[in-house]
Amino acid sequence: MEITSDFLDKHNVSGPRYTSYPPANFFNANFKTEDYIEQLKLSNKQLPENISIYVHIPFCPQRCHFCGCTTEIGQKRPVVERYIDAIKTEIRNVSALLDVKNRKVTQIHWGGGTPNAIAMRFIEDIMNLIKERFILDENAEVAIECSPAHLEYDHIDQLAAMGFNRMSLGIQDFRQDVLDVVNRQAPKLPVKDLVDYLKKKGFSGNNLDFIYGLPLQTVESLTETIKKAIDIRPDRIVTFSYAHVPWVKEEQLKLEKIGLPQPKDKMDMLINNIKLLQDAGYVAIGIDHFALPEDKMAQAFLNKKLHRNFQGYCTLETTGQVYAFGASSISQLWGAYAQNIKNTFLYMDAIEKTGFAIERGFTLDVKQQVVRSVINSIMCNGVLKFTEIAEEFKMTVADIKAIVNYDKSKLIDFEKDNIISINEDGVVISEIGHMIARNIAMAFDPDLKQGEAIYSKTV
Ligand code: SF4
Repeated sequence: MEITSDFLDKHNVSGPRYTSYPPANFFNANFKTEDYIEQLKLSNKQLPENISIYVHIPFCPQRCHFCGCTTEIGQKRPVVERYIDAIKTEIRNVSALLDVKNRKVTQIHWGGGTPNAIAMRFIEDIMNLIKERFILDENAEVAIECSPAHLEYDHIDQLAAMGFNRMSLGIQDFRQDVLDVVNRQAPKLPVKDLVDYLKKKGFSGNNLDFIYGLPLQTVESLTETIKKAIDIRPDRIVTFSYAHVPWVKEEQLKLEKIGLPQPKDKMDMLINNIKLLQDAGYVAIGIDHFALPEDKMAQAFLNKKLHRNFQGYCTLETTGQVYAFGASSISQLWGAYAQNIKNTFLYMDAIEKTGFAIERGFTLDVKQQVVRSVINSIMCNGVLKFTEIAEEFKMTVADIKAIVNYDKSKLIDFEKDNIISINEDGVVISEIGHMIARNIAMAFDPDLKQGEAIYSKTV
């Protein structure tokens, strides 16, 4: 079945992204540092036993007008130094509460901001501390998000020596006119050469990120950009939809003044991206992630062994409970989510005063843990087997169905449109159904009514 604008239009409704369940709008300030400490200790006995580490670097040399991230612009060395010290304090305090002898680190992810906008010695400083406090699995994935505007071969050499083995490059668009209007610097070196060099240095699973829906972009201009990306042949290509939320990020008003593509054009861009990438042999994982068939992510997807956290998709082998460090970062433990203070300076103050910087969070009860497993199974692997979830939670299938308010009538339309097939033990999502996995997951979310209007569109 071919993806069409009618199909996407029909399923373009407001809904959570399900990077977490419950979604981040459920987090609240009643969750305090004491709760986090309790959950850290409990996490030692919970699954998955692997440890994932997230490090947030909230610094960028200049602000892209489309930016939706937590970042500070143009901060000088003393601020960066102070921030690195704060992260190191946080790592020491959290690791002291964890069973670091029996639990290995299988995933490290550096995000931001622009992690490669700070001096390499700062990155090395933190990596050395992580290696001192934790045991890294020999197959650990160690990834970093980089802006190619500040990336040189020597940086890749240094990152490789520190143990990094995967890189995500934020390209957004290859066209200079688009980059100019969104206030983003072009790559310093040819992206093809960077990707080739990364491969040579042993990096794998590398991805190029793009955004569609920016001013000046048209289906034709984006075709040019995506074709260029395909020629470079990275392991993964991600095409994010630009989220226009000027009431949250005022800077985005600048893009509104220039003129944003119409929703219909944006939809055409999406369909065109999917077609181009699938025709070029990339496997579509959901609506916006594409991976070469031999890539680990595509393999995990095809073998139904994919998982997902705030850092994106990961394989079940690398999945761990996520311990996050730095301003605004979110820890994802079996029993709770805990988010640090968003403002960089308040984060540093809190760490310096108390050693922790929790701003809000959410403790999951068993029912919410069940719903999370159901939704993860649908979102990542396109299948739901009630018996498997029942086994995981030592409950009956009837219990699981009651918890997710299972109601076959909510799924009939999906079945009629060949988006899913319903069987005795659950549902299987078709190839085209993966594109709207969020919509299907919504049918299993008993708490959805509480916040529907605030979510972005699913397509
Ligand atoms: S580089 Fe990324 S984090 Fe920094 S301003 Fe641009 S979009 Fe935001």
